[in-house]
Amino acid sequence: MNQINPPKGTHDIYDLEGVANQYIETIFSSLCGFYGFSYAQTPIFEHTELFERGVGDSSDIVRKEMYTFKDKGDRFITLRPEGTAGIMRAIVSNKLYANTDLPLKYFYSGEVFRYERPQQGRFREFHQLGVEEVGVNSIYNDIEVILLGYSILQTLGLKDVKLKINSLGDKQSRDNYRAALKDFFADKIDDMCEDCHDRYNTNPLRILDCKVEHDQEIVRHAPIMRNYLTEKAETDFVETLEVLNAFGIPYEVDNNLVRGLDYYSGVVFEFHYTSKTGQNYGAIGAGGHYDHLVEEIGGPALEGIGFAFGLERLYAVMRDDSLLEGIDEGLDFYVMSVGTKSFTDAFSLLTSLRASGFKCESSFDGKGFKQLFKRANRKKAKFAIIIGDDEVDKEVVTIKNMLTEEQFMVPYAQVIDKADELIDELEAHSHHHE
Ligand code: AMP
Repeated sequence: MNQINPPKGTHDIYDLEGVANQYIETIFSSLCGFYGFSYAQTPIFEHTELFERGVGDSSDIVRKEMYTFKDKGDRFITLRPEGTAGIMRAIVSNKLYANTDLPLKYFYSGEVFRYERPQQGRFREFHQLGVEEVGVNSIYNDIEVILLGYSILQTLGLKDVKLKINSLGDKQSRDNYRAALKDFFADKIDDMCEDCHDRYNTNPLRILDCKVEHDQEIVRHAPIMRNYLTEKAETDFVETLEVLNAFGIPYEVDNNLVRGLDYYSGVVFEFHYTSKTGQNYGAIGAGGHYDHLVEEIGGPALEGIGFAFGLERLYAVMRDDSLLEGIDEGLDFYVMSVGTKSFTDAFSLLTSLRASGFKCESSFDGKGFKQLFKRANRKKAKFAIIIGDDEVDKEVVTIKNMLTEEQFMVPYAQVIDKADELIDELEAHSHHHE
């Protein structure tokens, strides 16, 4: 029969990428924990209307990229194209704002779906790791979230992160700016792309995001948001930047950063990183402050701030920069049994070792020592435990240090104690060298 291929824009994750993703998620969730965020999960599909209202009618995501279908009950359902709207809906549906101190702080992780043209670093099914902090409107909440994102990247080893930041101000600021853009583009829009025509009517800020080269040339001369901020919005932005300075977080104010989603207001930001291979994956993470999002989906007037990282992009830059080499720690023990007589002993030893908290493996396909040592090396085992027919008769095992090749015999009954001792020694040794 002919082979079934994966759908366009999807990818399977295994081996190094699998290990890397688990590692990234562990760092991500542990830092979120340190910052007082707790884990939340929301459905992968929601009513289409949630995203139309939450992400916004004028965004590319809603206009072109959603996986929407009618279910058997004739409801319009959409596979989530991002994580924020779902978390906001959960906050409203469960009235989470009523029972707890504000701000609410949640982190999430999971698949998102966008019908985009697949290319380097761009998938139709991908994964986002994100956080939302909702309910308190102080610049310190914004800064806390930016700092969290920055520390996660630092902890992953991505030292030269470029933080691009801008402010979209409050509603008044954006109304002023929108009017200025309409003025500016009025006599130019006829020369611009079809999409920009729509954007001109629905949300002229979107024009700044246009990827068409000819249009970008025009956009270069457009008025900038910063000059239309109200006094309050400008003061907040300046203060935010001052605190970032004080914490030594390098940033670059990017006047054209408007972000692709409709709900943003106030500070918006993107984390950029160019790997040593020079491959530009675009933003590896992005976020911003939102003011009317919770209201937009039927909740109270609560502001918030959040960001999301793209897991595929984090993996790609870490791989390109050789930051993944040490993360697969390998096995503590590889148990080798040669000759079927030793299979039973080997298997019960394996079970006791695992029960005592050691990572170990064995194989039962009757291969010889040479093959087994190769396997142990590929699995990065620290020690091999050898049980041959000879060892079974004498009720001992041979233990070999895979690095130093030193080997010695241990009575079968004492293997677990010895295992403790060996691993403790190795750990003490490696801490000594840190
Ligand atoms: P956004 O929700 O568009 O702000 O995107 C947040 C992050 O998700 C981006 O910075 C990327 O790292 C990642 N991302 C967005 N779109 C894709 C895609 N099509 N494929 C892979 N990663 C993506």
